[in-house]
Order: sequence, then structure tokens, then C-alpha cells
Amino acid sequence: EYVPEKVDYVFKVVVIGDSAVGKTQILSRFAKNEFCLESKSTIGVEFQTRTVAIENKVIKAQIWDTAGQERYRAVTTAYYRGALGAMLVYDISRRQSFDSLARWVEELRANSDNSIVIMLIGNKADLAEQRAVPTEDAVEFAKDQGLFFAETSALSGDNVDKAFLQLLEEIYAVI
Ligand code: GDP
Ligand code: MG
Repeated sequence: EYVPEKVDYVFKVVVIGDSAVGKTQILSRFAKNEFCLESKSTIGVEFQTRTVAIENKVIKAQIWDTAGQERYRAVTTAYYRGALGAMLVYDISRRQSFDSLARWVEELRANSDNSIVIMLIGNKADLAEQRAVPTEDAVEFAKDQGLFFAETSALSGDNVDKAFLQLLEEIYAVI
């Protein structure tokens, strides 16, 4: 049975980063909320939602995923439009995905509002034996760029909810 919910705010969040870092898996992890799962496909873009409560307000996170455009660095301006938050993802086992971050931050800043809240995510933390990006490097990059930071594993689910919830709380704090 579908019970309509009262939503106080809708927060658009975009997920970006190199191909194969785990963006889609992270989003699936977070959005699999059996109470309010909803997904939508359009040409080239896709989002999923999850509704959470923050300080007695009902917040619907509308989280956008690329449909492979990042492979060709062809993420469009429309994708970023209206985003209040961003998950910028790299793979801790693939240095190249970390080295791409500066370009992603530049593209994000060029296409979004100054007040956008950005969470840097080092995903695939379960691949500890293949780690190619020391945590300290990411902490330093995040500090330089003014980003929040977390390491996650979409595979085990470790830290995924926590990172999304922190992002949503930080957005709530600035709106
Ligand atoms: P996207 O291109 O950034 O959307 O990446 P996907 O979500 O499609 O994931 C790319 C590949 O990485 C897939 O084979 C996933 O199964 C794998 N993957 C995603 N997240 C993790 C993770 O946390 N740990 C491990 N070991 N593999 C992952
Ligand atoms: Mg994907």
C-alpha cells in the first residue's frame, strides 16, 4: 500500500567521478529504502530517491546518476542544474580516479551554485590490499578544496548511509 508522504524539502544531489568507481552501486545502496523507493529513467540521466528525517523535517533526496556519459567526459550542464549537493567519487584502488578529481571539482564549480555541498568519497574501501590512494592524500585534497570526506564500500555497505546522511545534514544546515 502506498502511503503519500508530506515532504518538506527536495534536495537534488548529483553523483560524479570517473567511470567504474562505483557511483551506481553507492546510489543503489543508499536508495534501497523499502518504504519509499522510487526511480526514474529519462534519456541519458537517471535519479533515485530516498526520504529521510532531519530535525523533524521530511527531506526527499533526489539523487542523480550518470548513464555512462562520464566515460566520454560528456556530463551536461543540465545534469548539475539545481544541485544542492554532490558526491564526488573515486576508487581507492585506482590512482587515476583520484588524479581526475581536480578536473571534476572544476567542472562541478563551473556548473553549480557557490553554496553546493560536496562530499568526497573514497569508494571500494574493502579492497584494502589493493589500496593505491592513502587516506591522508584524500584528507589533504578535501581540506584544500573545502570538501567533506568519507571512505565507503558499496560492496559491504560500510559508511554509505552515514556519508549520504552527513551530506544531507550539511545541505540542510546551509539552506
Ligand atoms: P560507476 O561506473 O561509477 O557507476 O561504477 P559501478 O557502480 O557500475 O561499479 C563499477 C564496478 O565496481 C562494478 O563491477 C562494481 O561491482 C564494482 N564496485 C562498486 N563498488 C564497489 C565496492 O565498494 N567494492 C568493490 N570491491 N567493488 C565495487
Ligand atoms: Mg554508473
